[in-house]
Amino acid sequence: MTSQTEPDVARLYKREFAAAHIIAGHPKCGRQHGHNYTLVAKVYGRSSEWLDFEEVKRKVDGFIDERYDHRDMGNMTCERLARQIQEQLSILFQTRVKIELWETGKFGIETA
Ligand SMILES: [Zn+2]
Repeated sequence: MTSQTEPDVARLYKREFAAAHIIAGHPKCGRQHGHNYTLVAKVYGRSSEWLDFEEVKRKVDGFIDERYDHRDMGNMTCERLARQIQEQLSILFQTRVKIELWETGKFGIETA
């Protein structure tokens, strides 16, 4: 049984961004290289309420453009990057946010 305030839906927004990183000590990824990441942001809420999709887009795009897009992230794993983005988006939306962060077409991270 769910309470009246517990989220029962998530609004989804998908965008891509490009960034460089290096994984120190990794035989292949220890050389600096880039990815075209696909981010899926899931902004949780109640089905009895609504949140403007355009606001979701504006906030996620603004944050990603300012912090990550076309930037060198240094020694940054996909795991840490996913958690960083999740934490910052949770603050931005003031609600539970989970994300999927796809580093390639086959491999990605989903935050718990
Ligand atoms: Zn990589």
